[in-house]
Amino acid sequence: MTAPTVARHRKPVFHLLPVAAVDRLTEDAVTVTFDVPPDLREDYRFTAGQHVTLRCELAGDTVRRNYSLCSSATSGVLRVSVKRLVGGTFSAYVHERLRPGDEMEVMTPTGHFSPPLSPDNAKHYAAVAAGSGITPVLSILSTVLELEPHSRCTLIYGNRTTSSIMFLEELQDLKNEYPQRFHLIHVLSREQQDVDLFHGRIDGDRISRLLDTLLSVDDVDEWFLCGPFTMVEAVRETLIDAGADGDHVHRELFHVESAPPRRTPAEGDGAATASVGASAVRIVLDGRATTFELSPDADSILDAALAV
Ligand SMILES: Cc1cc2nc3c(=O)[nH]c(=O)nc-3n(C[C@H](O)[C@H](O)[C@H](O)COP(=O)(O)OP(=O)(O)OC[C@H]3O[C@@H](n4cnc5c(N)ncnc54)[C@H](O)[C@@H]3O)c2cc1C
Repeated sequence: MTAPTVARHRKPVFHLLPVAAVDRLTEDAVTVTFDVPPDLREDYRFTAGQHVTLRCELAGDTVRRNYSLCSSATSGVLRVSVKRLVGGTFSAYVHERLRPGDEMEVMTPTGHFSPPLSPDNAKHYAAVAAGSGITPVLSILSTVLELEPHSRCTLIYGNRTTSSIMFLEELQDLKNEYPQRFHLIHVLSREQQDVDLFHGRIDGDRISRLLDTLLSVDDVDEWFLCGPFTMVEAVRETLIDAGADGDHVHRELFHVESAPPRRTPAEGDGAATASVGASAVRIVLDGRATTFELSPDADSILDAALAV
């Protein structure tokens, strides 16, 4: 099977899709599968690691949120997993009210958290994920294992307890299907593990110790990090300090808990300037370049870009 590709300059658009299934994954996570009619299948073809934007009206407001596709890119299945957040608007709606047969506006897949795949590759992909950060990683790893018979994958996956692990069974199935090529490490913060190294939160120190014992930076071709901002940044820093090439350490951020330090453009360096607290964002779509300011409380760059 060849790697799925998507049209390079496809402009993202929303379509109203029926919900085929809402399945409980853990106490606070459900998967939502959409029915894609045959005439839209091509539009919803995705590469592993991409996400969709879901949009609906809630209490008179238009609410839109991004969700990574968690199915393999070869499956033809459009499926996301939504973790319920305390006080969360959209996740509460999905958990409490969304039912099979309902319709939802779903944007065609976007995003660049995707490795270029080829059956000739013989690479080692390593991923570090925490909580719902598993969603794009599961899609990437399952697609790699299927499409690249000479590649290997390692997943370091952090959760609180075994019962809070999203896709526990799917991951075990992958492990059983590819025992020689998939190395799965669960790190649990609130449950004792046989190996002390696997008990606690994933942070820079734990990754350092894993690099000392189980995994060498030199042995990994591509890193994929997804989870809370602080974890992702700490892991990235540790990997780069250990010699990883930053161009091969890929990140997907669902949410930034605290604002990252902003670069102040030097006078005359050609960079667009932004007002205090805002970021200057330049987008190029269909050959048209637009620069706008992204305020710190904006939903996401994608949402802001679509509003321009
Ligand atoms: C590219 C991308 C892919 C994503 N993929 C997934 C996915 O596969 N599964 C998934 O469950 N979520 C995913 N998210 C996050 C998702 O878009 C929503 O932000 C999340 O579901 C919360 O929405 P809400 O309306 O329930 O919460 P809101 O009403 O927006 O927020 C409620 C409270 O939670 C805080 N908050 C918002 N988002 C998060 C978060 N992710 N982590 C911690 N605190 C948060 C807010 O600051 C606020 O205090 C993704 C985000 C991005 C940008």
